[in-house]
Amino acid sequence: MAYDWLKGIEDHYDVVVIGSGLGGLTSANILAKCGHKVLLLEHHYQLGGLATWFTRKGGHIFDISLHGFPVGMIKSVRKYWSQDIADSIIQLKGVRFINPQFSVDTTFDREDFTRLLIEKFRIPAETVERFFTDLRAMNFYDNSTETTGQMFERYFPGRDDVQRLLMEPIAYANGSTQDDPAITFGIVFSNFMSKGVYTFQGGTDTLIKKMAAELKQNGVDVRKHVAVEKILTEERDGRKRVVGVMANGRTIRCDAVLSNSNIKNTVLRLAGEENFTPEFVAQTQAVRVNSSSCQVYLGIKKGETLPHIGDLVFTSDETHFSSEKLVDLHTTSRTFSLYYPDTRPGSDRYTVVVSLNARYEDWKNLTDEEYQREKQRLIDESIASLEKFIPDVRAKIDWMEAATPRTIEYYTHHWNGTSFGTKFEGLKISMDLPNQLPGLYHAGSVGIIMSGWLGTINYGVIVANQVDKFLSAQKRTAATV
Ligand SMILES: Cc1cc2nc3c(=O)[nH]c(=O)nc-3n(C[C@H](O)[C@H](O)[C@H](O)COP(=O)(O)OP(=O)(O)OC[C@H]3O[C@@H](n4cnc5c(N)ncnc54)[C@H](O)[C@@H]3O)c2cc1C
Repeated sequence: MAYDWLKGIEDHYDVVVIGSGLGGLTSANILAKCGHKVLLLEHHYQLGGLATWFTRKGGHIFDISLHGFPVGMIKSVRKYWSQDIADSIIQLKGVRFINPQFSVDTTFDREDFTRLLIEKFRIPAETVERFFTDLRAMNFYDNSTETTGQMFERYFPGRDDVQRLLMEPIAYANGSTQDDPAITFGIVFSNFMSKGVYTFQGGTDTLIKKMAAELKQNGVDVRKHVAVEKILTEERDGRKRVVGVMANGRTIRCDAVLSNSNIKNTVLRLAGEENFTPEFVAQTQAVRVNSSSCQVYLGIKKGETLPHIGDLVFTSDETHFSSEKLVDLHTTSRTFSLYYPDTRPGSDRYTVVVSLNARYEDWKNLTDEEYQREKQRLIDESIASLEKFIPDVRAKIDWMEAATPRTIEYYTHHWNGTSFGTKFEGLKISMDLPNQLPGLYHAGSVGIIMSGWLGTINYGVIVANQVDKFLSAQKRTAATV
């Protein structure tokens, strides 16, 4: 008989959290610390969502999305998780850009970018200063319709090279394009520019294990291998509201549901159109999801070493940058993340993770044969590209494997295998959810801004506070009845 992953669960929880991405984990932790009874359900055999890792024979550990995040993570993690986790966050100093337009080594912070823009790209100091200051002042509530591309033209007209330097890393960090609202670039870029790029020393496995231990200590009931099939609603006082979930074929009652699943999944599949007004359903259907990713994982044989060629190396053979070319099936734009032994202190191992932006549509309909062939092409091209920096690397690799938008869809259930949730309009749907269906909340990658490790943790905090208010009001009402 199949193992019962819900064995011993209670009949009722204050809140059920669907999904254990960084947004779901953080919300669950905060709600438990507020004194609520929390059940966290994750369909995968591992917690973390896209903040995950996998191991392979030969002693390899591969991190999926541990490439870099802004310094703000230290504060958020200290405040909403623990000092211990925050203490492992360290700066990555070796960021490189190598493409036909320029070759640059940088610490990726405001001071160094100011130097580069003035000395290497010959931009007047006053323009650089104005650009950084204006960006820093950008506000989520600004009602500007300017796109990132239009903004670049305002500060750096005709300077395709400058626009590439500014845009390429952010496209990798949040999937945004030159056609997205300028704020989606401005907020994320400013976050990085404040102090550079950071990583978690110890690897994603250590981070998520520490988070899981904290959840346990705070009393969260965490269940893996449990897929939520449906969010259950009932009509009370003439209005529908959330009353539970159906998961692994079982009904679990609760007062609130916080979904970390993709916002379109949450509304259109898990809750279902029948629970919303036709206008809200139409708005949700119209939400565009962001692009997806491919990755190539290269494991270096035990005993072999790699020279230090940088931590994050943005490479491309394209003569000019364009958001379209970046996601093309045959893109030559690749980011190499190099994991040296100090990624996991005490280890003597090296791995390389190659990330490429991708379109789900290019991968979804491939036959099995075509799919295998395209994956092999990704691997071959990635190794050939890496050989330009480490000529003898091929002989040192004893594990190679590729992931595609289909892999992301399989493991996270994300709509069209999206890597960075939705475009800007998804945020409104996510925030409006509890007004549409009382008791239903969403935290996770939406609106480009609320994505990435820092964005999803911070959004998880915002939404957990809303759920806390809702549950506390419910408890007060129940106590007075
Ligand atoms: C290749 C790649 C590289 C990246 N690199 C970086 C980086 O360097 N820096 C950075 O800051 N960000 C990076 N990101 C983005 C970052 O990883 C994500 O934005 C962030 O981790 C998403 O968190 P989330 O809370 O939205 O949830 P997700 O990680 O999307 O997790 C959602 C969870 O919900 C679960 N779930 C969904 N539906 C159900 C269901 N019905 N029942 C049960 N469980 C369900 C899924 O299994 C999953 O575990 C990268 C992403 C990708 C794909």
